[in-house]
Parts: sequence; C-alpha cells; structure tokens
Amino acid sequence: MRLRNVKGSQEKILENPYTIQTDGTNGEDYKSLWNKNIFKNDNPIHIEIGMGKGQFIMGLAAENPDINYIGIEKYSSVLVRALDKRESLETDNLMFLRMDAEDIAEYFAPGEVSRIYLNFSDPWPKDRHAKRRLTSSQFLARYDKILAKDGHIQFKTDNRPLFDFSLEEIKDAGWTIDMYDFNLHKNGPAKDNIMTEYEEKFFNQGKPICKLICHR
Ligand code: SAM
Repeated sequence: MRLRNVKGSQEKILENPYTIQTDGTNGEDYKSLWNKNIFKNDNPIHIEIGMGKGQFIMGLAAENPDINYIGIEKYSSVLVRALDKRESLETDNLMFLRMDAEDIAEYFAPGEVSRIYLNFSDPWPKDRHAKRRLTSSQFLARYDKILAKDGHIQFKTDNRPLFDFSLEEIKDAGWTIDMYDFNLHKNGPAKDNIMTEYEEKFFNQGKPICKLICHR
C-alpha cells in the first residue's frame, strides 16, 4: 500500500508526540532505550512491521495496557492516516516509527523485542525481489538479532504463494513453526483475533486468510 503523496505528512509526523521519524542513521538514539526513555516502564515490547493505517496495533494497544507497542511503517503518506485515530486512543503504550524495516536491527537491541507481527505484507511476486519479502531469509536474520529468547513472530496473509514461501523460508532458517492455518476464519471470524484493514477487506470478499506463528 502506498498512498499518493499526502501533503504535509512529514511535518505532521515530526510534530506528533507518538511518532518517530528515522533516517537510517539515528538508531543509537533508540536502540536498547525504548523502555527507559520512551515508555518509561519495563513492559514487553511488541512490534508490527508494515502496519499500514494501524487498525490492528491500535486494537492491541487498547486491549493490552501492560504491553508496549510500536507500529512500523515505511511511508509517511500511509503512517499519517493512523495519526487521527491514534488521538482518540487514551493510552501511552503505542508509538509509531516511520522506518524501512531493513534498518530494524539498527533501532532495536538484541532481545529487546518480544513479539513481531507481520500482517498482509507486500508479496513482491517476482523472484528477483524475494529478498524484499518481510518473511525472506534476509528479514528473518534481522528479526533474529532483535527477538527475545522466548519471542515469536505472527504472520497473516491472504496471499497463498507468499504464505507457502514463508513456511519454507522459516523452516530453512531453522526456526520452529508453532502453528499454521490456511483458513483462519473457516468457522466464522476467529476468536481472539484483531482484524487488520486488509484482513477485513479480504474476509468480506470470502478469501481464505492464512496465519502462522513461529519462533527460533
Ligand atoms: N498491515 C496492514 C494491513 O494488514 O491492513 C497493511 C498491509 S499493506 C499491504 C503492507 C504495508 O507494509 C504497507 O503500508 C507498506 O508501506 C508497508 N511496508 C512494506 N514494506 C515495508 C518495509 N520494508 N518496512 C516498513 N513497512 C513496510
């Protein structure tokens, strides 16, 4: 998802107290300091990479005040759409980070992240772009650097080829797959599941949604 350039989105992000803009070089200002300097508590940190307009992570943050959430999005023009909704959320446990996830290991210390959510990640269907997929071995190696010992990844998608690729990449990287399901909502909307914007759209179209959970 890349919305047309939204005028003033950079400025809005810079002004917003819950949003951090990265430039790929200021990682040391944040790495290992999220809880100490930003959240000011010792709660576990869960992140969503490619949060889009943020419906999923905002739902989680509202339900789980004892977890610190960080929603990561590459494009300012997309992230800015989450800011208005964020204002109505009376909680301090959610930050947004404008960043390309390629740089993730520069912004989080080893073991700093307890859980990673990947929802409806861009499929990058061409083979030559496989390393850009957020479940590629290259990205798994980055997650490996920041995940806590007992941490895990949750991934949902409507895209079966991407899901099959992800299962293979995860196995080949020596990770353990805790569960997978090719049709999460086969018996109606799954319990204890917050739908993302894309998930709602595809569910309403009757498309099967795949889900997996894995750990190192
Ligand atoms: N997760 C949302 C949902 O399920 O409704 C949005 C899904 S959308 C298809 C994928 C999102 O991931 C887009 O907003 C895109 O900009 C973002 N994204 C893609 N590659 C990224 C990267 N390398 N780092 C951060 N965000 C990325």
